[in-house]
Amino acid sequence: MSAVSKTFHVTTFGCQMNEHDSERMKGMLVALGYAETAEQQEAELILFNTCSIREKADSRFISYLQLAASYKRRNPEIVIGVGGCWAQSVKEDVFRQFPYVDVAFGPGQVHKLAEFLTSDSLTAQGFFEFEGFTGHLPSARARDFQGWVQISAGCNMKCSYCIVPATRGRQVDRPLEELVAEVREMVDAGVAEVTLLGQNVNAYGRAVRGGSRSSFAALLHELDAIDGLRRVRYTSPHPQDMTEDVVRAHADLASVCPHMHLPLQSGSSRILKAMRRTYSRERFADRVALIREHNPDIALTTDIIIGFPGETEADFAETLEVCEEVGFDGAFTFIYSPRRETEAAELVGDFVPHEVSVERMDRLVEVVQRRALERSQRFVGRTLDVLVEGPSRTDPSRLRGRSGHGKTVNFSGLAEAGEIVPVQITGATSQTLAGEMSLLARALV
Ligand code: SF4
Repeated sequence: MSAVSKTFHVTTFGCQMNEHDSERMKGMLVALGYAETAEQQEAELILFNTCSIREKADSRFISYLQLAASYKRRNPEIVIGVGGCWAQSVKEDVFRQFPYVDVAFGPGQVHKLAEFLTSDSLTAQGFFEFEGFTGHLPSARARDFQGWVQISAGCNMKCSYCIVPATRGRQVDRPLEELVAEVREMVDAGVAEVTLLGQNVNAYGRAVRGGSRSSFAALLHELDAIDGLRRVRYTSPHPQDMTEDVVRAHADLASVCPHMHLPLQSGSSRILKAMRRTYSRERFADRVALIREHNPDIALTTDIIIGFPGETEADFAETLEVCEEVGFDGAFTFIYSPRRETEAAELVGDFVPHEVSVERMDRLVEVVQRRALERSQRFVGRTLDVLVEGPSRTDPSRLRGRSGHGKTVNFSGLAEAGEIVPVQITGATSQTLAGEMSLLARALV
């Protein structure tokens, strides 16, 4: 299939790592001479980058796939490709379930798509070995002032509810020098903010492929030394590996943002054990104390799972207690969803009825939002540096951006996307801040 001005369309499901992988997929296709189209029905190459973190993700994706199949019935020349974690989790079965799929590839095999497209293969092909880093492929960034950087692939943890180790393999890290060179290139191309990506970023440096052992803190220090790099963010760290040198990096390095997303999952040590999270409630609290000792103003956000098999009212009460004590600036909250081939999926006897989980979720959200609202008041009256992302979603006459703390800020003022401007904060909800661009502070910049 020659690429001359063929069009492609990519639908991305799931996490930031998938967004990153899709940017690389697009960069690779553009380098092959393809052109992206925003209309799926106009594309000659229809691609899906799938997620498999929850049952719901699968069913939503399948409805999209069936729509693509209807376009292919009208034009058999269309090529359909499925990548990402769902493809990796079912492998060759993709073709048995969906015979109209032409190519399937796992998260570690995006580059194989290029091989398939430039080959004269007429038969459907699947590629599922954990081979390469998508971070090695050219990138078509969604925003030219923000960039994802894949620092590692895979995960060595064994959280009992998680399918990621099965779909992304064991942890492998990219050499520090390679990452520094990549970020330097991004900054030269106009990137102001990078987000470092890994399943367990703060374990970085123990499994470096083609380079010497390093550490996450060492990487942060090297990146902070790059002239012109304004902001460094990262996701997701693991509380077990949240070492003092990383905590201090937030306090000592100007570019490391005052925001940490630290997944708690449950406040009950009994449930954390059943989840195989390798830390207890006390250890989590100890990490929070250390983080706040060195970074009193840092924003802390988290992930929490409700209704994990065996969760009692007493376990849930502990989750609420931790949320009251810590006072997170925000939280992603999920009702447990069994994933096939995970250890927790075997715990059928301890299933928590859905209506019980829903009722607990309501109580959890009330606590999280109330504490987040209390926490966000500390920004009112202060001037914060905001990276402008574009017009406000709620009021196009205003601008939207993100503070270093990771808070969305809607504000009045004149600025371009990609600029970092001082904004006087005038109001705060649990989720967002409101403000006015400080012309005085800007004049002084
Ligand atoms: S740390 Fe646990 S939850 Fe996160 S990707 Fe690894 S196994 Fe999954």
